[in-house]
Amino acid sequence: MNYQELVNVYIDLDNTTKRLEKTEIIANFFKRIGDDESISNICLLILGSIFPAWSDKEIGIGDKLLTQAVAKVVGVPPSEVEDNIRDEGDIGLACEKLFSNKKQTTFFSKTLTIDFVFNSLQRLAEISGNRSTNKKISIITELLSLSSASEAKYISRTIIEELRIGVGEGIVRDAISQAFGIDKKVTERAHMLTNDLGLVADVARSEGESGLKKLTLTPGKPVKPMLAQLSKGIKESISEMGEALCETKYDGIRLQIHRKKDEINIFTRRLENITAAMPEIVKLIDESLPHFDFIVEGEVIATKDGKPLSFQNILHRVKRKYNIEEAIENVPLKLFLFDLLYYKQPMIDEALIKRREVLEEIVDTSKDEMNLSDMIIGTCDNIDEVENLFNKSIEENHEGIMIKDSKEPYIPGLRGKKMLKFKAEPETLDVVVVGGTHGVGKRGDFIGSYLVALKDENDDLKTVAYAATGLDDETLKYLTEKMKEYEISEKGTHVIVHPKIILEIAFSEIVKSPEYEAGYSLRFPVVKRIRKDKSLKDIDTIERLESMYKP
Ligand code: ATP
Repeated sequence: MNYQELVNVYIDLDNTTKRLEKTEIIANFFKRIGDDESISNICLLILGSIFPAWSDKEIGIGDKLLTQAVAKVVGVPPSEVEDNIRDEGDIGLACEKLFSNKKQTTFFSKTLTIDFVFNSLQRLAEISGNRSTNKKISIITELLSLSSASEAKYISRTIIEELRIGVGEGIVRDAISQAFGIDKKVTERAHMLTNDLGLVADVARSEGESGLKKLTLTPGKPVKPMLAQLSKGIKESISEMGEALCETKYDGIRLQIHRKKDEINIFTRRLENITAAMPEIVKLIDESLPHFDFIVEGEVIATKDGKPLSFQNILHRVKRKYNIEEAIENVPLKLFLFDLLYYKQPMIDEALIKRREVLEEIVDTSKDEMNLSDMIIGTCDNIDEVENLFNKSIEENHEGIMIKDSKEPYIPGLRGKKMLKFKAEPETLDVVVVGGTHGVGKRGDFIGSYLVALKDENDDLKTVAYAATGLDDETLKYLTEKMKEYEISEKGTHVIVHPKIILEIAFSEIVKSPEYEAGYSLRFPVVKRIRKDKSLKDIDTIERLESMYKP
């Protein structure tokens, strides 16, 4: 199939903001795809990627390299490409304009097919080592020199992994159901278990509902973690649940640890594979759990003299690529396991209390670093004990407690009412930085104020506030450097950046405001911390903001 056909779909999707219409456009396209075409690859391309969500591979091309390649193909200096990006605010639109103006120097020797584009992008992602920059430029140049203006628009956006057509996983999932007449719940479950919409589309097309029902969890492939909502109060939450597992909420990093045969892999909540950064955890797991296939979840924290250190310390450990031995000594880790998703077979449909029971049976906690989360079973009869657990948690420098319904299954990716967190601190929002303004006076060299956004139901970003407080000089310096790295354009004192930096923001109140795209704004926003452990996919939604709004 020609790539232009996919481009036409992108254009149609760009022309509507309505979810149902977008779903329909994709469903109709799926039905048109011939059996000899890889629907799985097409599905990924519609999501703006070439790798399934469980993979931590990236294309890994920055603006600079792409700009050079575009300049070469269009026959203008790189500075002219940069000017166009600045004017248009987006590399895709800039390419479209430059390619429309381009004098026809190449006769299209061949038409771009979807396969060719997909394979070229994969080659691009695989290149590393010697002379890799030249090889990358030559692949991009080859692709773009065969492109029309509209093809160049979407290829360039796909290369930098910012497709911007307002299509999230939910829409593609519904489109698969619609195209192949499959119950939405079945598609949803298959997606939840495999975390691979390309595979889901492929099986839906070839084997229908019965094929999808056979898909299951696979050790080695991470699934999205089940997430928590905020508890309004210990007593209220426990009364609603009847019986709850109440556990210390540790302030570290969530790990999903997989064992498949002899291989152990460790993933973050963003599904990043960090096995290499934590060899002592691999060893600990190998020594403390049976040698069967399993998936366990837990929180890892950094400690000093046996006491928990703050979250930032553990982040340093995770991001570390060199001198790991030294880090192991300087920042000892402690693991607290709290869930079991797979043990010889999928366990997620079992009630939490059963999963915990098996976990307790199989984990050997004789080593100091290997623990199960501190837990008591809470009912209406022992609320005071749960309150004591909360107080103890805060005294010991942890974050609070988790309150989890004992009867519930594990639902990957869900942020529901059956798993709650009760913290000492007020609620915060995770937002992405989309722009900023240079400071004045002493802060003139820094970007002092950060324009932040949430996502709507189509995964489009909507601005919600300017955050300028809570930043010490070191953080300001770091953020200013990152803003430079991610800059799209600069006008006067204002910059626009790629949505890469995730901040956790506290605030005093949510107010309605026409000034921001979200229609709401945050009063007195304070940056609590940079969430390097989260990505664009993890930021909060307008829906959540609305649910927190008190009229
Ligand atoms: P937060 O910003 O509050 O950490 P989050 O968005 O990172 O929240 P949530 O699902 O809202 O994630 O909060 C639950 C998180 O708390 C888990 O992802 C996990 O990292 C952490 N956690 C710490 N201790 C536990 C525990 N005993 N059980 C479950 N999660 C725990």
